[in-house]
Amino acid sequence: MQLSHRITNILGTGTDGWDLFRKARGMKLAGAPVVELTIGEHDVRTDPMILQAMQDAAMAGQTGYASIPGIPALRAAVAQRIAAQTGVATGPANIVITAGGQAALFMAHHAACGEGDRALFIDPYYATYPGTIRSVGAVPVAIAARAEAQFQPLAADLAAVATGARSLLINSPNNPTGVLYSDATLRGIAAVVRDHDLWLISDEVYDSQVWEGTHLSPRALPGMADRTLVVGSLSKSHAMTGSRIGWVCGPPAAIDHMVNLATNTNYGIPGFIQAAGLFALNLGPNFEAQIAAPFRRRRAIAERVLAGQNLVQAAPMQGAMYVMLDIRATGLTGEAFGEALLAREMIAVMPGESFGVAAAGHVRVAMTVGDDVFAEALTRILAFARGLVQGRAT
Ligand code: PMP
Repeated sequence: MQLSHRITNILGTGTDGWDLFRKARGMKLAGAPVVELTIGEHDVRTDPMILQAMQDAAMAGQTGYASIPGIPALRAAVAQRIAAQTGVATGPANIVITAGGQAALFMAHHAACGEGDRALFIDPYYATYPGTIRSVGAVPVAIAARAEAQFQPLAADLAAVATGARSLLINSPNNPTGVLYSDATLRGIAAVVRDHDLWLISDEVYDSQVWEGTHLSPRALPGMADRTLVVGSLSKSHAMTGSRIGWVCGPPAAIDHMVNLATNTNYGIPGFIQAAGLFALNLGPNFEAQIAAPFRRRRAIAERVLAGQNLVQAAPMQGAMYVMLDIRATGLTGEAFGEALLAREMIAVMPGESFGVAAAGHVRVAMTVGDDVFAEALTRILAFARGLVQGRAT
């Protein structure tokens, strides 16, 4: 029986980019001592206080159908976090609670794009972006942010393809590059978005992990609140990846339609998960800083380990839980380097090519193992790269 083009086309023609990750997982399960620097997940689990709140809520009866837009107190708490961080007036009507940032990305694109519409996104990109866009029937159009421009997208490159498009998806702090978009970059993006009458979908799931500079939400720029859909999540900020809780923040009329979509898809997020999310948000910014602290420390470790050599350069380490290493001096692709590193050193990283063409010749290192293991693994990655270059020279 024939399936729809929309569903069979979700992955497009390429792979999903996770081959090396799956191989490393397989080796690890078979007992090999693989150091995994692949996936964007904390090395701590959800805090027991939050789990207690989840259990308390379930035991108190929050196990029935829950409010589909989100329980009012949670919508209000998310709105308040956003208002406090950005200065933009935000209330519960601006928020729909979603099954993580991923469902928020889906809903936002569903709201912005119709069948066959062009949806722009920046390459390098988080692995699900093109598939999410195809899932709503839209056509993904990648715009390269070049390593030579420190992975900051250029307004001229955006403007060149923006005519007739419906939306632009950006992500700062960025996965996979670890860069934070500068104010100038974001102002340039906002101007293109306004000039071409696009929706801006701003994925801010790493907003609590900023190591350098300050995070500017483009929704706060002039004329942008009415055309920006902000994607947020408790996955990264509160180490709640498995709870699947996030949100879209946008104009109330757009949110109302997304609530209709929520009614006809998930039918709401479990009440005990929402209660845990509310409890987590109420722990305030100090808790978020505590969850981010290990990555801040490891980013400092990475700076120290990388200093004093210039064979392997890192993209500016400004945010998120990743370091993007330029390994082009070895003459290998990111994929070949990743394969060889796994085979010979038992260290797993993500090839830059998994995240698009603009990160070719790079590897993404997730800072998601203990400090000492991280320092040693990074030191060995550099020695491995040096060995490749010396091997080539002799
Ligand atoms: N956006 C980006 C940039 C991500 O890295 C991730 C997860 N790795 C997500 C969205 C989705 O996050 P979640 O669904 O867990 O909230």
